[in-house]
Amino acid sequence: MCYPNSYRVGMSNLGFHSLFHRTALFQGVRAVRFFIERGGALFSPESLIPEKKRLLERCGGTLRGFDVILFTVSYELDYLNLVKMLRVSDIPPLCEEREGRFPIIVAGGVAVSANPLPLSVFCDIVFAGDMDGSLERILEILFRRGFEKGGKTAAMLAEVPGVYLGGTKIPERNIKDPLSEPAHTVVLSPNTEFSNMFLVEIVRGCKGSCSFCMTRCVNRPVRTVKPHKVIERVRLASSFTKRAGLVAPLITDHPELAGMVKEINGLGVRVSFSSMRPDRFTESLASLIEENGQTSVTFAPETGSSVFRKRIGKRIENEEFFKAVEIAAAFKVRRVRYYLIYGLPGENDDDIVSFGDIAKKTNDIVKRHNGTLYLSINPFIPKKQTPFENAGIHPISYYKAAEARIKRVLEPLEISYRFESTRFLHLQYHLSVGGIDTGRLLYRCILEGSMKAFEHAESKGPLK
Ligand code: SF4
Repeated sequence: MCYPNSYRVGMSNLGFHSLFHRTALFQGVRAVRFFIERGGALFSPESLIPEKKRLLERCGGTLRGFDVILFTVSYELDYLNLVKMLRVSDIPPLCEEREGRFPIIVAGGVAVSANPLPLSVFCDIVFAGDMDGSLERILEILFRRGFEKGGKTAAMLAEVPGVYLGGTKIPERNIKDPLSEPAHTVVLSPNTEFSNMFLVEIVRGCKGSCSFCMTRCVNRPVRTVKPHKVIERVRLASSFTKRAGLVAPLITDHPELAGMVKEINGLGVRVSFSSMRPDRFTESLASLIEENGQTSVTFAPETGSSVFRKRIGKRIENEEFFKAVEIAAAFKVRRVRYYLIYGLPGENDDDIVSFGDIAKKTNDIVKRHNGTLYLSINPFIPKKQTPFENAGIHPISYYKAAEARIKRVLEPLEISYRFESTRFLHLQYHLSVGGIDTGRLLYRCILEGSMKAFEHAESKGPLK
């Protein structure tokens, strides 16, 4: 089991927990986790557990000694880390270079569900969609029958919903509907983004219609987990931790949120609330947040203009954000975080300047309640399978100029903000929307030690 990023990031990912749990339950299979830490060294937390340490030593301490390697990949730039993890394990990264006895490499996760093509040059099997159900079938075929490229087992795998083995036929995503079991934390750790918090998924997919959003496209349809399933899981976890985090693209999409939170509180467990829709942010929800001791909320206006927001598929007015912030602030929420995006298709100077308008009005509200506003500002990157997939990308100079313009607007307001780096914007864009050749180009660039080749394709639309 591999997460091509650090332990801290990987162990904050519920998909990774779920895969680890279900692989470990599969009879006759022993699973260990690997991460890549800063500096490029592999780390397996199992090396700290004596009986697992022996297994690791028998396998040579790297990925090469295992039969099957499962990667969970949520983010396109982690493709570089995936290649690094193979190279550091002495595994030739390209499928076509792996002659003889090497592990079978499988990749799944949100990024590859949207576009399995670039990673297919490195992975024998790329999986699109929900692993629920399909994982067991893949393991059954690989472990009970062995894997032969182009042979009988490859043909059997091709029948598994969501499996992509290369070629021109891209599979439909595997969709688990209804979600009978929620994904949840299986290993509590203080060293993650959500230190010692039991995370449990309550909704998969989103009812929103934002044209730039990959989550909504690759996780449709929206599926909610039955409250008693969530409560049962939290009850079991409550002997280990008294903090639970409910996970969903928008937790307000769960129709029984309030009742569920009250029952969880009845177990002596406090709940943390993730991202919420402002138009569903009511006083009763704010009161639940206050009772659970949470002092911050996050909303995603994306832009400061109601008109432009509607054009990018998000039908929520500025006034609804202000009202939600006003309610939150009245219930002891002291920190409000906004997510904003620039560089979107059709954006003009007024839309960029509108960041200042929404920030100023929101800041006035939170300041009246002795609170603070924080802005997280990200450049837009087209994602496969979204309505903006073919929007192309601006030259880097556009982002630099837009960033400077936004800073000029925000500076007098004395608001804290952070711009996401644009350093690998073009690389991420091509990995997001590109094809098999993009995977090959990535490998060439890695060998040459420079990603410059990706910058030359700016504004020309996706690399094919
Ligand atoms: S509300 Fe959020 S998760 Fe839902 S479609 Fe819009 S951006 Fe995506």
